[in-house]
Amino acid sequence: MTKNEALKIYRETGKKINAYDLVLSTASYDRLTIAPKKGASYRNEMMAVLEGEAFSVMTDPKYIEAVLKLASCDLKDPLKREIALVKKSLEDIIKFTKEEQMAFSLAQMESNEAWEKAKHENDYPSFEPHLKKMFEMTMARSKKRAPEKDPYEVCLDDYEEGMTKKDYDRFFKLLRKELVPLIEKVAAKQEEVDDSFLFKYYPVEKQAEFMPLLCDFLGFDPSWGYMGVSEHPFTNGFSRNDVRITTNYDEHNVTSAIFSVIHEAGHATYEHQIDAKYEGTAVGNFISSGMHESQSRFFENYLGRRKSFWTTLYPKLQELFPENLKDVSLDAFVRAINASRPSLVRTDADELTYPMHIVVRYEIEKGVFDGSISMEKLNETWNRKYREVLGVEVPNDTAGILQDTHWSDGSFGYFPTYALGSAIGAQLLHRMEQDFDIDAELEKGNFKALTEWLKKNLQHYAALYDYKTLIRMVCGEEFDPKYYIRYLKDKYKKLYRIR
Ligand code: ZN
Repeated sequence: MTKNEALKIYRETGKKINAYDLVLSTASYDRLTIAPKKGASYRNEMMAVLEGEAFSVMTDPKYIEAVLKLASCDLKDPLKREIALVKKSLEDIIKFTKEEQMAFSLAQMESNEAWEKAKHENDYPSFEPHLKKMFEMTMARSKKRAPEKDPYEVCLDDYEEGMTKKDYDRFFKLLRKELVPLIEKVAAKQEEVDDSFLFKYYPVEKQAEFMPLLCDFLGFDPSWGYMGVSEHPFTNGFSRNDVRITTNYDEHNVTSAIFSVIHEAGHATYEHQIDAKYEGTAVGNFISSGMHESQSRFFENYLGRRKSFWTTLYPKLQELFPENLKDVSLDAFVRAINASRPSLVRTDADELTYPMHIVVRYEIEKGVFDGSISMEKLNETWNRKYREVLGVEVPNDTAGILQDTHWSDGSFGYFPTYALGSAIGAQLLHRMEQDFDIDAELEKGNFKALTEWLKKNLQHYAALYDYKTLIRMVCGEEFDPKYYIRYLKDKYKKLYRIR
């Protein structure tokens, strides 16, 4: 096979793979948002068939030969990087048969549905066998993919290339050491910030009326983005000009949906701002979960919780909910949305306690994989860890082990990237502040100035570089969690008047 023949086969097959991806993404978005529950088993079976077909295309010997041929040629970026990425994922895929792939995909969907039902009914025992199966299947798959490696490290590497247990152990140890004493001090000074009005009754229809205003402010434009509702908010980018997000409303917490929309719009903006010339290629994708999360949490926390972000938006929110907010000043509102206290639910957690929710999940995952934590009664382990790390009592499994969707489809190794992403975001914020006055732009409602900066400095590169290289390019130094710790300490000491 010549290089040109290889390139032709590679491009043509790549298109077919993308077509399957698009259809499966669409079906998956539909499944998680509007599809009636009773149709689940038929739909899951058909989706597994499609997964199998996509698998056949990806593992076609001609395609593999073409990729290997190109990998042996002297290529230039972006093709060089593209082939390296494709080769790496192919090396994993070919370890499995089509039947194994379909069986795993089906088990993931069944487990995910069992989780959703169990969460609604607060019935952990009904989900437990699925969770065990997900742990066992993922461990077995990791062993098959890289027999010489620690199975949990295989998972960690899937979500953040190059990050090991040693790296995360060091990172989380630092966060625990630096943040836990501050969390305790803040917990003891709760009278400093009143956020009770955020938990009054806020009808869903009224909350939904605010979303177009918020999306407009964020530049999340209906010409390329769409927002639906799902059990667990998420973003699914079909292509750079078709990015779907979801939210979830809570009638007794007005900020839950608002901050999930800001968060998901951050993910969506990243996908949308990838350079058009990479579209449809392996480079035309996000780099890693940690980098994705750094962008969403940048929107949500480093921008969305500033006073300047709310200068133009808050009066509109007040208009929608006069009975709850007319006597609440902008300053009081901004203090309230930054309140911190140890809590039960990760997605509603404040910035300061958030990484401790990740510590709990990381330690449990790691422990189950290395055998030091039993899979039996994992809900009780969860509750014990929450008591130990955050000092809170978990009243039921819905607010405990069942709160997150990730484990239900075997996404072990994903959670640590949330904390990593927050830390990357803080370093980016430090860098952005050197270029312009963020508050001045936000007060003018010029959110675009900020998204343009993100686009120009990092988002347009898509997956051309790994995250470590990109941080070095943008910030002129290696990734360093000191910015994250400094940001949290400064902010919360000031807010809670702690010396
Ligand atoms: Zn996210």
